[in-house]
Amino acid sequence: MAYRTDALFRDDVYLRTADAVVVAVNDRGGIILDRTIFYATSGGQPGDTGTLERADGSLIAVAATITGETKDDIIHVPPPEQAVPEVGEPVKLALDWERRHLLMRMHTACHLLTVVCPFPITGASVSEDDSRIDFDIPDAGFTREDVTARLMELVRADQPVFVRLITDEELAANPGLVKSKNVRPPVGTGKIRLVCIGENASIDSQPCGGTHVKSTGEVGEIHIGKIEKKGRENRRFRIRFGPMPPA
Ligand SMILES: [Zn+2]
Repeated sequence: MAYRTDALFRDDVYLRTADAVVVAVNDRGGIILDRTIFYATSGGQPGDTGTLERADGSLIAVAATITGETKDDIIHVPPPEQAVPEVGEPVKLALDWERRHLLMRMHTACHLLTVVCPFPITGASVSEDDSRIDFDIPDAGFTREDVTARLMELVRADQPVFVRLITDEELAANPGLVKSKNVRPPVGTGKIRLVCIGENASIDSQPCGGTHVKSTGEVGEIHIGKIEKKGRENRRFRIRFGPMPPA
């Protein structure tokens, strides 16, 4: 059966701890809570890791967070052979914040790359030390140096990153908001989360359910590690943290 967990990270991605109650434990040991700060794997962003602290102070590790039948059905997956909490038991949640913050910075960096390279996206994946986006573009003469310089202009401009909720109708009226060729934002729930960059979304806005930092400056120093040719008209861009190493 599908559960509806109150996803606290949708309103505040900076929550590192919270209290919750165990609603269910599925037949594979997956833990479902009434509310959570753990983002579940979705849209190319990996799910959170961390711990659940029981009343006696013992910890249950969360090795992965995934969705069940729906996106509101958030399952905390402990490593094998771990103690299983009781339904109704209160637990204190704590994220592996260092990892999550890296993912937020990387994910936001991916949005910046789609501003610098405004081409249809055919795939994307975020991790804490490397991300990639595949674009449908022929060889357009992009160099790692040029793209890195333009990304860092956006980072240094320290522009706000925020979420605006729009209706299915507003999205239908603005089909250009959707940059992915293969992934359509879920419609039918009435509200779509638009991730906006810049004052009044002057730099970018696109539907996204992931977690992002609150300003482009918080992304920090990044560079393009590689531009790989994946097909005649497809290029894979890799983003990494830190300054570009000398060629
Ligand atoms: Zn996003």
